[in-house]
Amino acid sequence: MLRRVADGVVVHESTFCQSNAVVVEGSRGVLVIDAGVHETELECLADDLRAADREVVAAFSTHPHWDHLLWHPALGAPPRWATALGASTARARLAGAIDRARFGIPDDVPFELMGDMTGLPQDAEELPWDGPRVRIVEHRAHTAGHAALLIEDLGVLVAGDMLSDVFVPMLDLRDAADPLADYADALDLLEDAAAGVDAVIPGHGSVGGAGDLRSRVELDRAYVRALADGAEPDDPRIGPEARPGWEFVADVHARQAAVLAERRAGGGGA
Ligand SMILES: [Zn+2]
Repeated sequence: MLRRVADGVVVHESTFCQSNAVVVEGSRGVLVIDAGVHETELECLADDLRAADREVVAAFSTHPHWDHLLWHPALGAPPRWATALGASTARARLAGAIDRARFGIPDDVPFELMGDMTGLPQDAEELPWDGPRVRIVEHRAHTAGHAALLIEDLGVLVAGDMLSDVFVPMLDLRDAADPLADYADALDLLEDAAAGVDAVIPGHGSVGGAGDLRSRVELDRAYVRALADGAEPDDPRIGPEARPGWEFVADVHARQAAVLAERRAGGGGA
């Protein structure tokens, strides 16, 4: 089911970690951002678009994590873009066999067209498509090549895996030299970019308004600050008031805190 977020912007929500696929109306068809996860949901999105007589003319992946790289033939074969670094990172990471169990990937997630992205030029500022201007806000925080998309004229920020109401900041503990500083910088960047925005669409979680956007930036900043201080964050997403079904986010946090503590202790970390 497609749910309206703003004029010309709808989301298609997945049962997998409340993932949001985003559809933006263009002049000759639609742009699909992070298409979805389960095969039935990708097919459902394709059916909904066909019923609305909308052709997919462009697609974008916000970052090179498996749940943001999927596609289905029923959605057609438009150009599927990512940032230059996002596309090259996806290619490198998908070069070998993918272990579904290790990454918790459901059995029905289709791998056939996963990660088949075209990298945009390094200096691209917007998506080259026939629709409302979509600005690429690339930043280093969640993973290499991550980008939020700002659709200024429609008042929408598509945040990728940032600014979630259900996930705490998920740090790039794999590649970043200073993941906490990167994350803090990215929050500043997103806050500036989204100053005039009415709606924020996270990769996972609830669509929020302008007030939610500001409070999520503050909450994420407080989380990052607490981790930098080696303190336990006071954060509703990992406390007793965490949403039912989302208790595992506390484990995500515990893992991140442990890696950072180990690095601080000079252990080198993971
Ligand atoms: Zn991710």
